[in-house]
Amino acid sequence: MTEAPSEPVRCDVAIVGGGLVGASLALALAHLPLEVMVIEAVPPLDPKQPSFDAKTTALSNGTARIFAGLGLWDEIAREATPIRQIHVSDRGHFGSALIDAKEQGLSALGYVAENRRIGAALWRRLSGVARLQVRSPATVSAVEAHPDYVVLTVQESTCVTRVCARLVVAADGAQSLVRQASGVAATRVDYQQTAVIARVMPERWQDAIAYERFTPDGPIAILPAPEGRVVVVWTLAPLVAERVMALPDATFLSELQDAFGWRLGRFVSVAERHSYPLALTQASASSAPRVAIIGNAAQGLHPIAGQGFNLGLRDAATLAEVLADACGVEATVDVGSEEVLQRFTAWRERDRRLLIGFTDGLVRVFASPFAPIRALRSLGLVLFDLSPTAKSALSKLSAGFAGRLPRLARGLALTRDAHAKVSAP
Ligand SMILES: Cc1cc2nc3c(=O)[nH]c(=O)nc-3n(C[C@H](O)[C@H](O)[C@H](O)COP(=O)(O)OP(=O)(O)OC[C@H]3O[C@@H](n4cnc5c(N)ncnc54)[C@H](O)[C@@H]3O)c2cc1C
Repeated sequence: MTEAPSEPVRCDVAIVGGGLVGASLALALAHLPLEVMVIEAVPPLDPKQPSFDAKTTALSNGTARIFAGLGLWDEIAREATPIRQIHVSDRGHFGSALIDAKEQGLSALGYVAENRRIGAALWRRLSGVARLQVRSPATVSAVEAHPDYVVLTVQESTCVTRVCARLVVAADGAQSLVRQASGVAATRVDYQQTAVIARVMPERWQDAIAYERFTPDGPIAILPAPEGRVVVVWTLAPLVAERVMALPDATFLSELQDAFGWRLGRFVSVAERHSYPLALTQASASSAPRVAIIGNAAQGLHPIAGQGFNLGLRDAATLAEVLADACGVEATVDVGSEEVLQRFTAWRERDRRLLIGFTDGLVRVFASPFAPIRALRSLGLVLFDLSPTAKSALSKLSAGFAGRLPRLARGLALTRDAHAKVSAP
């Protein structure tokens, strides 16, 4: 039986959703003079945890810097595989391009890490944060905004708790209840594509090389993984993906081989497969009164450019900096004030617009069956391969080094009084 609601529990910041982005924000706020609470529906080590699932994530250099600033990078780097080259090709067409870290003056273009391991590292660290309250499993079911605070209704096994916060952060994913309850509209474009993800053992493993191959059925990304394996992200029409998911292993490998080719020799074996329907969700605003919206709750992207989490982590790093600066100005700052939220929203506007436009544009150009666009695409790849300027602009954008960056993404400490330069890749 559900008990009657008790007196509200008070905090300065309530983060709803302790997935990749929400947990990162909680860690970033650890040293600020704020009472912070994380409310997460599915505990971090639960096999059903939706954020720390079977996916692997391509982490940009900017993300590596932010994690270094949070004291987490060494732990993640131990289990991550660097990407030093990306080979881009278009099946059945003449164009191809190679992006090389060395040419860009970088030691790596990015790193591939398993979501489960990132989640475990984040939550291990959060368990040692003194002022943090964690509620999990606990689900926010209602949000009630008042001029000076927000009241959240939280369902925890058999009881209902009320949490009263100055600022609520919606980090509850693409279907964000907090965003909806705060009256922020979101658009959703269904790409009519599904990503099939599988860990595959190739005959010939190539250290630190990632492949992006465009095919008439959709793009295939192949990312290097430890122990001689690769992670395949194969984007297909939903019905084709359904069929491919049900294939016996040998047939799956043979169809993948046909689609990708022989650059890695024969595909020898495949582990469990997972599938994800793909859509672009975009909140019409990054905040509402006393609510900041971050990560997939603000924008859920197609994985074609591997940017969704990297962008979401910059939301978290920026919000952390805005709150750190506000705390530095006044001891009794109102962290949910309109002024604080406006600073956050204005700062995030350009980065969000740029990355959403870039990712959506790639999906549309490379999904087009229209012959002139396909021809231009091949020509584009050739020209791109010949242009150091274009490669440098692209690697800067995907590294997360374009535009105005929060201190953590510049390798600096979060608070102004801590001048330490963080050791980052
Ligand atoms: C196939 C695929 C491949 C991808 N590859 C990459 C990549 O290579 N690089 C990259 O940067 N990004 C990639 N992404 C995107 C990346 O996975 C997401 O951007 C990232 O997971 C977003 O994290 P989040 O914490 O904002 O949201 P989520 O991961 O959705 O987490 C939301 C959390 O909120 C919790 N929650 C939800 N509702 C409530 C509630 N009411 N109360 C309490 N808790 C709640 C959930 O349990 C969950 O833990 C990929 C995505 C897909 C689908």
